[in-house]
Amino acid sequence: MPAGRFAPSPSGDLHVGNLRTALLAWLFARSTGRDFLIRMEDLDGRTRPGAAQRQLADLAALGLDWSEPVVAQSDRLGVYRSVVEGLVAAGETFECFCTRREIQDAPTAPHAPPGAYPGTCRDLTQVQRAQRRRERPAAIRLRTHLPRFTVHDTLHGEFTGDVDDFVLLRGDGTPAYNLAVVVDDAAFGIDQVVRGDDLLSSAPRQAYLAQRLGYPVPEYAHVPMVLSPSTGSGGEPVRLSKRDGAITLAQLAERGYDAPRVLGLMAESLNLAGPGEPVTAELLLKRFDPASLPREPWIFTGV
Ligand code: GLU
Repeated sequence: MPAGRFAPSPSGDLHVGNLRTALLAWLFARSTGRDFLIRMEDLDGRTRPGAAQRQLADLAALGLDWSEPVVAQSDRLGVYRSVVEGLVAAGETFECFCTRREIQDAPTAPHAPPGAYPGTCRDLTQVQRAQRRRERPAAIRLRTHLPRFTVHDTLHGEFTGDVDDFVLLRGDGTPAYNLAVVVDDAAFGIDQVVRGDDLLSSAPRQAYLAQRLGYPVPEYAHVPMVLSPSTGSGGEPVRLSKRDGAITLAQLAERGYDAPRVLGLMAESLNLAGPGEPVTAELLLKRFDPASLPREPWIFTGV
């Protein structure tokens, strides 16, 4: 059965921004007859004990449901490595010995996107590689064949973004986020990816990798973020953070906003309910229409 998903990183409690994205992912999946899966993205070393369980309890408290098992990426290291081994064997990758610093300082080709990999290790000779392997363990990068790739997004339409020789496996052997997402979405039949629009720029790389691996490219919906009422030093919008006070379900409950009431706030922000109207996830599902979703971020001013 085709599925949608929510893929949090279990690094702490979910805040209203994460919860609203989860609600939207659930609404998109269920309203299109899809299964709904949860995946814990716990490869980046920021995992906190007990966070995954609390995140699941919070999602359940909002009335969201999902199919078991909840997958943890740390249980799938062998799968990611074997996918990379296949690409390596097919000559689709190269070893990269660059430090972050070296990448920053390297001269980049004219017109290369900012931060793009400068290509330093792409064409090392066998002798150079052997020499550099003695200095540090290699990361594995995908050898890309085109500079940009276009995805279709339900909310953003056609979106074209940069694809450089991105990392698949880090020097310490950890699979990169872009690799793990693509492998997992395909492995679990996920054909609909709904997540915050801060990840829109990652979608072309991921779709390109999916295509290179012969996987179907999922349908995307990158949804507006929830932002802080304060702004950065240059007046730029900033994400919701701890400094914004009560933002998790537990903190909001202390202020008298239980889970159904928080669901109501989120529903109101999505034009799915009137102010103070009691709602349930099931009721929101009946009302849900992607076409009438707000396209602007929600500034959460607190309760
Ligand atoms: N784990 C990522 C996050 O928490 C989401 C990745 C994704 O949905 O592809 O921001």
